Amino acid sequence: MHPGRCPQCEDIEVCPHCGSKIRNFRHVGVRSTGIAGSSIWHYSEPCGHRISVESRPVAGTLGRALAVYNGGPLWNNGYGWFNIFWGKFWDGQPLVEQVNRVTADIEASVSYSGGLSQYNVGIGKFSGSTVVTSSPSHKVSNIEIGTELAKWIRDGTIPNLGTRGAYNVFLPPGITALLGNDSSCAVFCDYHDTANGDNGPFFTCEPYPCNSGCNQCTSLSLDTLTQGLSEEMVELKTDMNPGTGWTIGTMELCDYCDQNFVCNRISTGEYVNAWYSNATDSCWKP
Ligand SMILES: [Zn+2]
Ligand SMILES: [Zn+2]
Repeated sequence: MHPGRCPQCEDIEVCPHCGSKIRNFRHVGVRSTGIAGSSIWHYSEPCGHRISVESRPVAGTLGRALAVYNGGPLWNNGYGWFNIFWGKFWDGQPLVEQVNRVTADIEASVSYSGGLSQYNVGIGKFSGSTVVTSSPSHKVSNIEIGTELAKWIRDGTIPNLGTRGAYNVFLPPGITALLGNDSSCAVFCDYHDTANGDNGPFFTCEPYPCNSGCNQCTSLSLDTLTQGLSEEMVELKTDMNPGTGWTIGTMELCDYCDQNFVCNRISTGEYVNAWYSNATDSCWKP
């Protein structure tokens, strides 16, 4: 297999949208606004088009142990989550402290996060947050977030987690997240990515809660964020460089369970998206 390719994309040489030769794919773990579409989305490099990739059946499974490990980096004990609230909007917003609490609760949940030990994933911690008061552009791509993270690490705005943690990037209202030509709320809810493969920095991106399509349990914005954040945190930890960790075809562990979505909460009250367990051949329940 070429480096940077997964079994689903290794044979794709030419972009079906523009005909240009594909050098590589950027793999992004995406929660779609249409439930069936949550998976590892493939963006062709250098042209940037999204290519639809068949999820091939997983060989050798008999209704059990669907998830397979592809050899990439996984989350270890003690790794940290650092929350970045981008834009002046966040200064003094109660949502900042609420989301920080949610991040800590999700990571500390023995049942929800601790259960991932079956995948050789450890328990990390919430390690802090900051409000970055520079204004994001009206549309912010995953490429730009990678560039900004590098800049913020260099100038000391955020700690350098190296490969031992990840950043959750929260966007203010009115800012659209972009993946290629795909826009948040229209096509996707949130995603996780890495700026530079196995080397990171690793990050999730949570756009300001969408009005519809991203919260199947309540109409509250905080619940929209907790559902998205829980899924992206689990999928980042189990598949830090998307497609190289634990996958089920082109799906990550929560994508699989999103197909038959059930509203679940952890013991501290937050709504979380379920992940697939190889150990029980079922989706997580409280
Ligand atoms: Zn691929
Ligand atoms: Zn193309």
